[in-house]
Amino acid sequence: MGDLLAREESGEVRVGEWDTYAICPCGLHFRLPFGDVFHIHRRVCPRCGTHKRSWVVRVCRWVSEAVWWRPSTWGRGHWENKEAERDA
Ligand SMILES: [Zn+2]
Repeated sequence: MGDLLAREESGEVRVGEWDTYAICPCGLHFRLPFGDVFHIHRRVCPRCGTHKRSWVVRVCRWVSEAVWWRPSTWGRGHWENKEAERDA
């Protein structure tokens, strides 16, 4: 992960803040305003229809690999899970 820091400093990636998300089995992430799924004002996932009681709550951050002058990369990136990093 030291690699990631170097890539961020070079401007290759942008690392978001740690925040609490509810994660649907389909992979969609919902940021939780107060760290509680209660504050999400929808009952099911808009992408796959899974009920929110099946979502898991995790502390995550988005690592963006988008390059602003290269539109084909926009939206590219991956999620990092804080718990997973602690295990590593
Ligand atoms: Zn879903």
